[in-house]
Amino acid sequence: MSSERQEIQLVWLKRDLRTEDHAALAAAESGGMPWLAIWIFEPSLLAHPDAAERHHGFCLQSIAAMNRRWQGIRQEVAVFHAEAEEVFSALDAMYKIVAVHSYAESGTRITWDRDKRMQRWFRDKGIAWKEYQRDGIHRGIRNREGWDAAWFATMHAPRIANGYRPTPPLPLPTQLLLQKTQQDAWLRATEGMQPGGEQLAWRYLQDFFEGRGRDYRRAISKPQESRRACSRLSPYLAWGNLSSRQVHQFTRGRTKERKQTQPWKSFLERLKWRCHFIQKFENECRYETEHINAGYAGLERNSDPEALQAWMEGRTGIPLVDASMRCLQATGWINFRMRAMLVSVLCHHMGYDWRAGAYHLARLFLDYEPGIHYPQFQMQAGTTGIHTLRVYNPVKNALNHDPEAKFILTWVPELNNLPLDLVHRPWQFQEMETQLYGFTPGLDYPMPLFNPEKAPRAHTDPLWAMRKDALVKKEQLRILQLHTREGLRRRPDAV
Ligand SMILES: Cc1cc2nc3c(=O)[nH]c(=O)nc-3n(C[C@H](O)[C@H](O)[C@H](O)COP(=O)(O)OP(=O)(O)OC[C@H]3O[C@@H](n4cnc5c(N)ncnc54)[C@H](O)[C@@H]3O)c2cc1C
Repeated sequence: MSSERQEIQLVWLKRDLRTEDHAALAAAESGGMPWLAIWIFEPSLLAHPDAAERHHGFCLQSIAAMNRRWQGIRQEVAVFHAEAEEVFSALDAMYKIVAVHSYAESGTRITWDRDKRMQRWFRDKGIAWKEYQRDGIHRGIRNREGWDAAWFATMHAPRIANGYRPTPPLPLPTQLLLQKTQQDAWLRATEGMQPGGEQLAWRYLQDFFEGRGRDYRRAISKPQESRRACSRLSPYLAWGNLSSRQVHQFTRGRTKERKQTQPWKSFLERLKWRCHFIQKFENECRYETEHINAGYAGLERNSDPEALQAWMEGRTGIPLVDASMRCLQATGWINFRMRAMLVSVLCHHMGYDWRAGAYHLARLFLDYEPGIHYPQFQMQAGTTGIHTLRVYNPVKNALNHDPEAKFILTWVPELNNLPLDLVHRPWQFQEMETQLYGFTPGLDYPMPLFNPEKAPRAHTDPLWAMRKDALVKKEQLRILQLHTREGLRRRPDAV
């Protein structure tokens, strides 16, 4: 019976939704037999608290873009809605699967556990599962010895020149395919956001170099101007519409043609940070759920559900905070500074554990990348022990980076009739001004939930004090030695 099954190879797509510079697709294509690219929406992952319809919609758009590229070769990504094991079992019943190719995923614990189960399953079935290194991130490394050089070598290596021969379409286990109604619902959830797909990703990249990015360094911290002046490549990188190498090589090529190199240097640095953070997470995916510095385990934090809900819904009564959250809800993107400020407000002004808000922002970020998200979240929350505590004052940030309140008024239109100084501090509103401006504080816009100009010492003092704790210091050294180049030079007894 098994000898009658047609031999095929599979490409299990993960965060690599593109057709170029793609090692797994190149390996399948060179195998000399029919191959099928598959994407699996796994119910167990869809139920995880980091999952959001906007992510699924973005992936569907990215897949549609791949299919458009492949029209000439009659290849299409098969999109399943079932657990990975069910999908591979159904395909195994129809075909003799010779090999499965995919990029190594630096994902959350739930994907890591799924991969370990699938590894056993493939082994039992005699199927070779070949995983390829993604974006210069390595599995199982013990420190950062040689990491930078290896990363640059990956970025400078020639891109993979994917070529495709026409293939006859392969029959599929149709009972496991994603239903059209579900697809439509997920696509609707992305309205108002950057659409996915490699063709668009390239357009964003080119457009950034041809004009938008000239003001990159000046505008990067400004909530409104950054929307145009930043590359906005993050969702395309997060879901693999572009590889880091494609972006790196394009940037270096363009930089050579320009006199003004500074904005592009800063941009290239960030591309490296991206992989540096993902590498941390590859080494320790417990960044998602645990204080990475075990010394902070006893930290006591706020547990009031009402104020947390107000933060999540953009109803804190602090204009820049609410504008950032509402903008994120509607568009899936805010700049780095506003992300850091939202975390600082949550943890330092409101006194919550970072875990109270990490999944909420993960669901809202269209560019959700666990490898950046959780290490950044913990860094901003001040619980790594290796970074200094940065407390953002949302009023000062508004005055410095949105002085005319363009961003604030776009997302908090309740404040539209107020003079500028009151837009920045609506709590300073005098009762007698109610008639003049047609605005009632507390009714038209919430009274502030906390003093935005000073984080309570009750929330920040314990964080400072714990930095002297013996376990925090011991962990600090461990973290530095595992995740940083500087750590390599530290003696084990250096605390
Ligand atoms: C709490 C918090 C959570 C975050 N979560 C994510 C996330 O889930 N996904 C994500 O892509 N970024 C995340 N970031 C990092 C950063 O805010 C975004 O990468 C950036 O705003 C994306 O916009 P851009 O593509 O225009 O960036 P650009 O400034 O144009 O940078 C280019 C690329 O470099 C990378 N990059 C930029 N800044 C950083 C940084 N500080 N750390 C690591 N990589 C960086 C991104 O891949 C980005 O697309 C987070 C930051 C914070 C403070």
